[in-house]
Amino acid sequence: MSRSEKNDIAEIMRLRPHLFILGAGATKATIPNGDKYGRQSPVMENFMHEIGIDRLLEGVKLKTKSKNIEDIYSELAPKPEYANVVRQIEDGIVAHYRQMQIPDAPTLYDYLILSLRRKDCIATFNWDPLLIQAYNRVNKITTDLPQMLFLHSCVEVGVCEECKRFEPYRNRYCSGCGKPLISPRLLYPIKNKDYSQNVYIQDAWNRLQYYLEKACIVTIWGYSAPKSDKEAKQMMLKAFSSQFRMLDQIEVIDIAEEEKIYKTWSPFAKQTNYHLNIHKSLKDTIIGEFPRRSVEGYVKRNIDGWWGGSTLKLKECNSFKELAQLVEPLLINESYNDFKVI
Ligand SMILES: [Zn+2]
Repeated sequence: MSRSEKNDIAEIMRLRPHLFILGAGATKATIPNGDKYGRQSPVMENFMHEIGIDRLLEGVKLKTKSKNIEDIYSELAPKPEYANVVRQIEDGIVAHYRQMQIPDAPTLYDYLILSLRRKDCIATFNWDPLLIQAYNRVNKITTDLPQMLFLHSCVEVGVCEECKRFEPYRNRYCSGCGKPLISPRLLYPIKNKDYSQNVYIQDAWNRLQYYLEKACIVTIWGYSAPKSDKEAKQMMLKAFSSQFRMLDQIEVIDIAEEEKIYKTWSPFAKQTNYHLNIHKSLKDTIIGEFPRRSVEGYVKRNIDGWWGGSTLKLKECNSFKELAQLVEPLLINESYNDFKVI
């Protein structure tokens, strides 16, 4: 490859997005000690007990012995005689998540959002409001922040059907036209999920496909691609495999056994010639070394053949003031349209 061909490839690659895909493990890692008031993020196993709604099952005849909300909900949802119970379970889930509050100090979600830019994207399977709450405060440091997609909807998403505008549901009224915001229905945990259930979820999946096709780096954080998401995983793989990926990178952040992770994601890794890195923590990933410059840093090292290291890495910050100071040199450069690694 000639030097100019290599430069062309690098130039095109630098413009490509970095896509993050988040599952339940990401929220767990973000609030290891619970939310602002110590509330834990529940797991699917024993979910109803954890959020205090198991009494709704009194008098309900269940075939499944499982305590997993997916098994329970899947069994009850198609039965008309339990429509009322199902609705109460749904209301309980929404009410639980609506109460969750992000802790005051910067969290991993704050680092994540601030470490990406408008061309990048965070797609999450989580219903909880923490990512949007983090976005709303990081937004005060810079407005050049990634797109967010809620693949199963989210309790904090509010939509104005008039203006097609998204904003936090807790604002209650559209800041454009003043009409009440609606909250799109969550995609509940049934085996055969209908991704076209509502236009918001369908739109999120369409946009996810775009990012899967275009992304130079895909980082999967705390998402184990459970069996019930088989169809989702196939859709993601199809979009990802539709392009030439040999120069691209996949990262997985997970505390599970490496062998299990490798097995789950190897169909994706194969596309990239097995450029798969597994990390235990967000800060060990490419954004940890190159915040707001992940794709630039990756291309500089792997295509340009650079042997150096970043001088500005993510580090633990105790306040938002400190976090703003950390990224300030990058934001100043960005105001001059300079996105070089420093
Ligand atoms: Zn409106």
